[in-house]
Amino acid sequence: QVTDTTTKEGPSSPSYDWFQTDSLVTIVIYTKQKDINLDSIIVDHQNDSFRAETIIKDYSYLIHVGLSHEIQEDFSVRIIENVGKIEIVLKKRENMSWKCLGHPLEKHNSFLPKKDRGSYYRKCQLISKEDVTHDTKLFCLMLPPSTHLQVPIGQHVYLKLTITGTEIVKPYTPVFDSLLSEFKKPVLPNNKYIYFLIKIYPAGLFTPELDHLQIGDFVPVSSPEGNFKISKLQEVEDLFLLAAGTGFTPMVKILNCALINAPSLRKVKLMFFNKTEEDIIWRSQLEKLAFEDKRFDVEFVLSTPSSEWNGKQGHISPALLSEFLKGNSEKSKVLLCICGPTPFTEQGIRLLHDLNFSKDDIHSFTA
Ligand code: FAD
Ligand code: NAD
Repeated sequence: QVTDTTTKEGPSSPSYDWFQTDSLVTIVIYTKQKDINLDSIIVDHQNDSFRAETIIKDYSYLIHVGLSHEIQEDFSVRIIENVGKIEIVLKKRENMSWKCLGHPLEKHNSFLPKKDRGSYYRKCQLISKEDVTHDTKLFCLMLPPSTHLQVPIGQHVYLKLTITGTEIVKPYTPVFDSLLSEFKKPVLPNNKYIYFLIKIYPAGLFTPELDHLQIGDFVPVSSPEGNFKISKLQEVEDLFLLAAGTGFTPMVKILNCALINAPSLRKVKLMFFNKTEEDIIWRSQLEKLAFEDKRFDVEFVLSTPSSEWNGKQGHISPALLSEFLKGNSEKSKVLLCICGPTPFTEQGIRLLHDLNFSKDDIHSFTA
């Protein structure tokens, strides 16, 4: 059984070792941590560089080598949780004995705060693009076969495009391909597909270019970033989600994870702010889910509704929030997640503080 060696100064550095058989090379990372999983390790093998980044709390441990011999494209990653070990099993291209793993490349065997690591991009292929609303589309990107990467719940990645000679990056939050299918089939480990709901702004810098990509084109995708901790969902009883426009995207996986994995969960409520009915992402899926799972309720609020709309209207306000939050018992463990345009999020946080919710009760999604 591994003991957690984290001190006030942060976790202690992992180490690695490697061994081989005729056909395989196994790299073992000893993390000295208990709470590791397949999200904790990102592996990329591109050209002559083999890179395995282990994320431990807010730190990053990097193995970065030029392998001494060729390997096959696919490899496997295993977590041996109770001993805090990660195993990466590579398949040799030729059955021969390797004298060494390879030569060290930049920052090999280093352990740094994650923010000092710098980002790394791998080229993902555009597999499909489907209309979701009049201006929002579901993009599916495929990771290269020689990458292992899972985006943790509540985190985002950066996409990169070169626009008139300048590299531009913008953050996007992965979702599932649908709200409903995922409730039946669990996400497969080593899933190669990443889905995004992206609103195209005709006068925007990045999204029109993204929209011009053809199926089969490649887009560089960064490693995950973000500070949402899944442990926040562990004991939650009442989960309140406040989303505006594409601020809905982080809520997709949170909603799914809470309904499937949070044993203490009593109620999830989503208040979803949009301009008009046409702007609501996945409205019928949300309504169907609310019908099928009694723990989940959704309320749509429109800021510029048509005259036929007889639901809630306006911007986020004390009146809308008090009504939304009523029925929440003082004793229950609450989590409030909020995401949308910056003024929406800032105002929401202010109003929640006015209603006596503490910082710990609230998670806001920002850049
Ligand atoms: P921009 O060029 O930024 O313009 C956006 C809009 O503002 C356009 O209508 C433009 O005309 C207008 N505008 C630009 N400049 C001005 C100005 N000076 N004055 C007035 N109006 C102006 N978006 C998603 O769709 N899906 C996601 O999953 C998602 N996840 C995100 C995660 C994070 C952590 C963050 C911070 C943002 C996320 N976003 C997401 C937003 C995304 O990163 C981009 O900001 C968005 O796609 C707009 O990019 P753009 O370059 O096309 O538009
Ligand atoms: P939108 O313009 O369609 O507006 C949606 C709703 O937001 C409006 O109906 C209104 O209720 C509310 N709203 C807009 N401006 C407001 C204001 N000034 N004050 C109070 N409420 C306001 O929204 P959109 O174009 O879909 O934009 C979504 C925003 O969410 C973007 O700014 C994007 O960057 C952000 N976003 C952030 C993250 C993240 O940080 N993780 C993820 C996804 C999206």
